[in-house]
Amino acid sequence: MRLLARIRNSLGIKLFLSYLVVVLVGVVVLTGAVQVQTPVAIQRHVERMQSHLLTDPGLIEDLRVNFRGAINEVTLTAAVMALLTAVGVSVFTARRIITPIQALMRASREIAAGHFDQRLPVTGQDELGELARSFNQMASELARTEQRRVQLIGDVAHELRTPLTNMRAVIEGLADGILPANMETYQSVQKEIMRLQRLVQDLQELSRMEADAMSLRPQALDPEELIKNACERLRLQFRDKGVRLEMEVPANLPRVWADPARIMQVLLNLLGNALQYTPRGGRVSVRAEREGRHVRFVVADTGIGVPASDLPHLFERFYRVDKSRSRAGGGSGIGLTISKHIVEAHGGRIRAESGGVGRGSTFTFTLPMAR
Ligand code: ADP
Repeated sequence: MRLLARIRNSLGIKLFLSYLVVVLVGVVVLTGAVQVQTPVAIQRHVERMQSHLLTDPGLIEDLRVNFRGAINEVTLTAAVMALLTAVGVSVFTARRIITPIQALMRASREIAAGHFDQRLPVTGQDELGELARSFNQMASELARTEQRRVQLIGDVAHELRTPLTNMRAVIEGLADGILPANMETYQSVQKEIMRLQRLVQDLQELSRMEADAMSLRPQALDPEELIKNACERLRLQFRDKGVRLEMEVPANLPRVWADPARIMQVLLNLLGNALQYTPRGGRVSVRAEREGRHVRFVVADTGIGVPASDLPHLFERFYRVDKSRSRAGGGSGIGLTISKHIVEAHGGRIRAESGGVGRGSTFTFTLPMAR
């Protein structure tokens, strides 16, 4: 019973036994064929000898028996040798298949236990080599996901600390009677609460997008209409700050295939940033132009610009060029990350350019044309 269970649970033993069965069948067929063929062959030879020698029948019968015995002996020796060699080869082959599978099992267990640095040696181009390669790919992807998860927790904790510290300081000041219980004090707490609320909202949205749970409701949209609506929404804020807002859309631009609410979110994010990082007296322009099967939207400002070293990181979550300045301005550093997700979910691309500090910035994104 125990032996049966062992066989059932071991691929190595099963492989070995299957080889053995193949070899045994081979040996049985070989022996059977020899047994069937031998009398016929002997008979033929003996008849030929008889016709040549014409010796007595007793001698002929003796010859026949001896001949047959010799053939049986040779067949038996050959079968035993073949069997022994086959057993050796079976053990070797079964090991070669089983060893990588056992390594795979061990590595999978390690990964399940949270050790994502496990990798398998890739030792060939066959299916086992391919399996090892796929496993390593999966392990790297899991390691990256885990790293992102850890980083996100660290980032969120860091983002929560500042408003919480500020609120605690105000409350303690109030309790100790150092701060007056007036409008200004309450408003400072309210500002921190609003900042926390915005952070939570942005995080919620980002997590939905990173989980690919963004549901788009695309339709054919007129780029000019989109830009006009976005500008309209922010016109007062631009006027209050004293920043000029211009738009430039050529006539008969093709319509784009996009979710109006989501694209409005991207435009408002880019325009809001342009307004925030452009000092009074500056200018922000929005334009759209055709680019192959896409329409390109461009938001350019004459503001503080972005240092070249920061440009590649702008779309990473929580990334801010001037940490203290934008945090004070209420920015969570997630806006551009969300915009990137939205644009890419539409099949477009987004990028940032800047001539450097003090030389303004240009944000560009593309959207596919409606069919
Ligand atoms: P935030 O909420 O902090 O504005 P974003 O993701 O929208 O977050 O932007 C990330 C960072 O990119 C900003 O903190 C800012 O440093 C930089 N940035 C974005 N837009 C501009 C711009 N038009 N000019 C200069 N810097 C910008």
